[in-house]
Amino acid sequence: MSREDLRAHLEFFGALGVDGVRLEPEWRARAVSAGEAAPSAVAPRADDRTDALPVIRGDLGDCTRCKLHGLGRRQIVFGVGNPSAELMFVGEAPGADEDLQGEPFVGRAGQLLTKIIEAIGLRREDVYIANVIKCRPPSNRNPEPDEVEQCEPFLFRQIDSIRPKVIVALGKFAAQSLLRTSDPITRLRGREYKYRDAILMPTYHPAYLLRTPSAKRDVWEDMKRVRAILRGE
Ligand code: URA
Repeated sequence: MSREDLRAHLEFFGALGVDGVRLEPEWRARAVSAGEAAPSAVAPRADDRTDALPVIRGDLGDCTRCKLHGLGRRQIVFGVGNPSAELMFVGEAPGADEDLQGEPFVGRAGQLLTKIIEAIGLRREDVYIANVIKCRPPSNRNPEPDEVEQCEPFLFRQIDSIRPKVIVALGKFAAQSLLRTSDPITRLRGREYKYRDAILMPTYHPAYLLRTPSAKRDVWEDMKRVRAILRGE
């Protein structure tokens, strides 16, 4: 590990609230094997349209396509960030804070996501952040298949408009739903997938990291790989 890498590593863990660093051999072995795997899953584009984000937002309108509009959502949470971002994050669905503020990832998990973004030298406004579905499910339950089916085309259009180099799927739900797989997130993360015109990297959801701080090591490995891809390495 270079001095620069070590510094970034320590800053990342410092930012995430970890005081020390451990160097277990098993951990190093695991990081290497994850980096070697590079499967690809090609998802076709939904259509050939590449609209600007405001057009897509306009088409979404005051959406009533699925039942979530009648189940207590306050507002649609479309997405936020740089419309030409090289890096895009996709989460599951808005929670209570996001439903109130109209912006994805603004609660505790969102604050951790902001630190993760900053740990690789970017600012939140440099990237684009969205969710698989745009309305809060009641009691934060998982989105249901009919809700995903109605909402997903708008995410695909956002991806095709932004044309990011890298998409980070945050957590099991986003990774499984984008990759059309039921493989567990433990198997999906640490790998790169061709996805639309981007590289998709699944990683753990920041809410999971809040409950399971030991998983931050894996996320750091994933984010280092994201940073390298963005640098053209
Ligand atoms: N969790 C998500 O998946 N998305 C958000 O916007 C907030 C929390």
